[in-house]
Amino acid sequence: MEISFVDLKAQYDSIKADIDAAIKSVIDNTAFIGGPIVREFQAKFAEKYGVKHCVAVANGTDAIYIALRMIGIGDGDEVITTAHSWISTSETISQTGAKPVFVDVEPDYFTIDPEKIEEKITERTKAIIPVHIYGQVCDMDRIMAIAKKHKLKVLEDTAQAHFSEYRGTRAGLIGDVATFSFYPGKNLGAYGDAGAIITNDDELAENMRMFANHGALIKHQHKMEGINSRLDTLQAAILAVKLNHILDWTQARRDCANRYDKLLGGIDGLVIPKVRPNSKHSYHLYVIRTDRRDELKSFLASKGVPTVLHYPTILPLLKPYEKYGYTPENFPVAYQNQNTILSIPIYPELPDDHQAYIVEQIAAFFNK
Ligand SMILES: *Cc1c(COP(=O)(O)O)cnc(C)c1O
Repeated sequence: MEISFVDLKAQYDSIKADIDAAIKSVIDNTAFIGGPIVREFQAKFAEKYGVKHCVAVANGTDAIYIALRMIGIGDGDEVITTAHSWISTSETISQTGAKPVFVDVEPDYFTIDPEKIEEKITERTKAIIPVHIYGQVCDMDRIMAIAKKHKLKVLEDTAQAHFSEYRGTRAGLIGDVATFSFYPGKNLGAYGDAGAIITNDDELAENMRMFANHGALIKHQHKMEGINSRLDTLQAAILAVKLNHILDWTQARRDCANRYDKLLGGIDGLVIPKVRPNSKHSYHLYVIRTDRRDELKSFLASKGVPTVLHYPTILPLLKPYEKYGYTPENFPVAYQNQNTILSIPIYPELPDDHQAYIVEQIAAFFNK
């Protein structure tokens, strides 16, 4: 049995005819950038997600940068975000000229701790980026209350949380603007780089669309300088096909997680992921915790079970942020997670017998 961490081929095989036809039609029409297929995907994504505007861009990192710039973030500003994320969240803050200000995470949920946000707010603070990490939604009520009180913008980094829900509202529909990644391994994945930004704000949507396309909505009519961050038509065509299946795939991830919860729940020395009350997780990743993480990781590798660390080092302790002088003591919860987390395989097509084998090996490790 060959266990994969994620198997993108299995998903392709399940929708092969539609994907192949979509790719062929793009090539037949030789419209490789923009055109009706990109516009259709944006409209379809916006409709499915329940939002007014979807601006498709080249990748999820650009999505954050574009959104930050167009909500007015720039030189000298500060943007608050979580210590526990992928570097896109903080490097884009720096790219705008602003300073990323990191906050520790909540003990149970891996997400930014609202309790520790206000102490980081200064007169330079302009925005907060909550990251719905692994598919777990942040404590948005408390984050929005803080943002309102201090007049801060909220950008939800929803790269890992397509179709997650918080109190009946989809992740990404609570703040001012939200960004998605369609990196191949994400819950909705293209066959290359792709991303999108959603908002209900008409003016912001238009500005983001313009900025992502050299500052022009109509060719040669540049209203500002922008960047080149367009979604390829091929990726739009592929994503439009996959969008038809995303709710089923998200449910399959939840079912898979529920089985893990049941099978791994009682093991001594192992902590399974907890879901925030009144919310729906979308399980981009299923992350367990144990003090014997490194030992477990090598044991599983020796049994043919691939695992990954998301992520080996928390953001404030990465080299580019050395200049700020952060220490592990500044982020005790995130730092402890850094040393105990382990992502085990989860994807919609994960075969039952693979899952049973993975659980069996984890149980064997703890019982030996
Ligand atoms: C994947 C990811 C991004 C960036 O997306 P790309 O499409 O790879 O640029 C941003 N934030 C988080 C939390 C991510 O996981």
